[in-house]
Amino acid sequence: MNPARRRAIYERFRAASPEPRGELEYATTFELLVAVILSAQATDKSVNRATRPLYQKANTPQALLKLGVKGLEQFIKSIGLYRTKAKNIIATCQLLLEQHDGEVPRDREALEALPGVGRKTANVVLNIAFGEPTIAVDTHIFRIANRTGLAPGRDPRAVEQGLLKFTPDEFKLHAHHWLILHGRYVCIARSPRCGECLIRDLCEFRGKTAEDPAKAGLKKA
Ligand code: SF4
Repeated sequence: MNPARRRAIYERFRAASPEPRGELEYATTFELLVAVILSAQATDKSVNRATRPLYQKANTPQALLKLGVKGLEQFIKSIGLYRTKAKNIIATCQLLLEQHDGEVPRDREALEALPGVGRKTANVVLNIAFGEPTIAVDTHIFRIANRTGLAPGRDPRAVEQGLLKFTPDEFKLHAHHWLILHGRYVCIARSPRCGECLIRDLCEFRGKTAEDPAKAGLKKA
């Protein structure tokens, strides 16, 4: 894809949503970190359902440590992999208190040293909480980058590198949210909604679905 087309794609996203926001609910950087750890292989909605009552009870490393692994499990057991996540979150609280005065560090290496925090989680926290121009590549962004031709790559790391290289600086802060929301609601995995896609004419995907289902003789769902 050529640079002009990439720029045009981001300009469309920006015009449609100048200040995009993710769907995880949080009030502090620590709450965001815990929510992102919980969101691995889970929907944001399911995470929000669990964290609303959790954060009423405990929303600091000290309070979560007091709750303990078993206590935390009671709040998050509707979320996949909750036992592992509970263990990781409690261990992360311990480390935050021991090494970072209970604060979430603004540093990739320190973030990735926390249990349950990989590159993607670190990227999300750096981007959303600290305004760093990182682009976390999840399943949606991986799919869109490849489908559209925005930044094709064989694995998430290659796509991340491509997006960082090809995305003009002025769009980097919001690229993560634009792409993730587009993948969640329009460019969905099984059957992308190309007919209602705002970048349809710019996207290079060869298997686009019909622009007008009626014209194509298809019934609207
Ligand atoms: S045109 Fe279709 S494949 Fe391309 S980005 Fe839009 S929804 Fe996805």
